[in-house]
Amino acid sequence: MEPWTIGVDIGGTKVAVALVTPQGKVEHSIQSPTNASRGYKSVLKIIFDAINSLIKPMECPPESIGVGIAGQVDPNTGFVYYAPNLGWTNVPLQKDLSDVFRGIPVKVMNDVRAATWAEWHYGAGRNMTDFAAVFVGTGIGGSIVSQGRLIEGYSNTAGEIGHTIVSLNGPQCGCGQYGCLEAIAGGLAIGKRAQEYVQQNPESGALLLKLSGGKFAKLTAKVVEEAYLQGDSIALKVIEEAIEALTAGLVNIVNLLNPQRIILGGGVIDGLPELVQKLESGVKHKAVRASVQGLEIVQSQLGSYAVVIGAALKHDTQRKDKGRKGHKGHKGL
Ligand SMILES: [Zn+2]
Repeated sequence: MEPWTIGVDIGGTKVAVALVTPQGKVEHSIQSPTNASRGYKSVLKIIFDAINSLIKPMECPPESIGVGIAGQVDPNTGFVYYAPNLGWTNVPLQKDLSDVFRGIPVKVMNDVRAATWAEWHYGAGRNMTDFAAVFVGTGIGGSIVSQGRLIEGYSNTAGEIGHTIVSLNGPQCGCGQYGCLEAIAGGLAIGKRAQEYVQQNPESGALLLKLSGGKFAKLTAKVVEEAYLQGDSIALKVIEEAIEALTAGLVNIVNLLNPQRIILGGGVIDGLPELVQKLESGVKHKAVRASVQGLEIVQSQLGSYAVVIGAALKHDTQRKDKGRKGHKGHKGL
């Protein structure tokens, strides 16, 4: 049988574990609720059980296990410094998984980087040397491939597109700053802003409230998307503001990095794919003319499987990348 790997995607609401072929295809996958409030050990057990049930029917063990997680991860040790959606601070995730699955290499990485690797090798970024991937989900994450290298930055935090400032007097972000892209256009912000507008004007908010079952707390981005498709005025306003902020964020990326393509993914884009076209025309209108020559803005191709595929396949591609870096030898420039 061909060598195969395991990819794990640890999100705030669900854990996905998949068996991935060397061609980047998901053969089997298991999804379970994360139940993060039960703590780190409980999430570890969910991962152990899911991996074991995938391994059991196989004739040989997986070549490796790759894990993508929303948070700050040490690229060498897989130590998780901070994963806000899970409430984790300083957990030795890679070590804990290695201790159980002895003899199988385990690698833990940031989920956006994993998804970008996957799109690069098997999705919308295939054969490209210059692209940015932007994932608009609960928050907004991004990653950049420039001149054939995934940009990591001096302390491995490059690509924090969600925290670029697009409105100087904008709303406060979860990071503490004001006017971050994520604070206007992230899924959490979309729900929160709709709640505020409905509170200010309950009459116009009737449809949104109805779709939320009459409960403010249930007025999420998903509800706003549904109301937007029905032409609701508050939903239109919130989404138009999100489009305006996203356009500004993408224009900044285009002017700064001159990518050939921007790949858009994440729950908000998957829920409203028509945003891709609107963003493309807005960006082409506002960015520096020379930088939009040949620029395309497209939807991600791997969707919700991008993280498990990228995590599972990271090992080889990372070695390739390291070789390129060494060859070019311009670290520190
Ligand atoms: Zn921020």
